[in-house]
Amino acid sequence: MKRGVLFSAFLVIASLSAVLTGYQQPAQRAAVPDLQKVKDNFYIIAASSPVDRSMFTGGNTGVFITDAGVVVVDTKLAGYGPDILAKIRAVTSKPVTTIINTHTHGDHTGSNEGFPATVDIVAHENTKANMTKMDAFKGDKAQFLPKRTYQDKMTLGSGKDRIDLYYFGAGHTSGDTWVVYPAIRVLQTGDMFAWKDAPLVDRANGGSGVEFPKTIAKALATIKDVDTVIPGHSPVMAPKDLQEYQRFLADLLAAVEAAKKSGKSAADAAASINLSAKYPDYKSDRVKAAIDAIYAEIQ
Ligand SMILES: [Zn+2]
Repeated sequence: MKRGVLFSAFLVIASLSAVLTGYQQPAQRAAVPDLQKVKDNFYIIAASSPVDRSMFTGGNTGVFITDAGVVVVDTKLAGYGPDILAKIRAVTSKPVTTIINTHTHGDHTGSNEGFPATVDIVAHENTKANMTKMDAFKGDKAQFLPKRTYQDKMTLGSGKDRIDLYYFGAGHTSGDTWVVYPAIRVLQTGDMFAWKDAPLVDRANGGSGVEFPKTIAKALATIKDVDTVIPGHSPVMAPKDLQEYQRFLADLLAAVEAAKKSGKSAADAAASINLSAKYPDYKSDRVKAAIDAIYAEIQ
């Protein structure tokens, strides 16, 4: 009897505190998958689809095990730090020494706070500026902002442990980093290549649908010696997929510019532009939003 009363009191307090903090525990918390081996000493913790938000944990996370420690590229949504660390523990006891954030979004930076404050955090300078505006990095949380930034290119480590970070211009945001692991010939694109569909162009964070295909073309012209591509939110792909994505975006932009020139509204452009014959394995869930973003940009 007494236990029942205590338990009821506990439930009242628990639900009251949920109300006070404005936080509701999700009924079912999506789990992060196990490490997927891509190359020697390089794994991903795969992305889940953002379409079903209840199963969404964030973008692809790269896990590169170097002599000096583990480098984690993108940290998924908030709250997954312990899960990511536990998955890494399955293959190495080395500490995480470095986090690279490919861009500002919370599904790539959210669990920075789940790692020790001593971890080095690296991002492009525009991404740090974008992250500084996020509530998730205000006050005490500012310690989980990037500690080191770069402008055009930055190299971390050397020999088989080397990582090259490149910035080629705006696209998804104003600060997207391309991560190259030269020794294992892997390129991690962040959301500059998230999926085979039109991209999210985050204009509020400096993204550009006009620059997007040009920025990918610059990346392709510079990053030659890779055989594996880790997209932002899709399974492992090949360089030819990124080449095709560049052509898709260039064709989309050309079609939107032609529609605008002929006096069509954004809605009419969205109704008339159809690239699925030329790109049969592409989805078109995000084409309308991308056309709207490009129209807004080329006013
Ligand atoms: Zn993103």
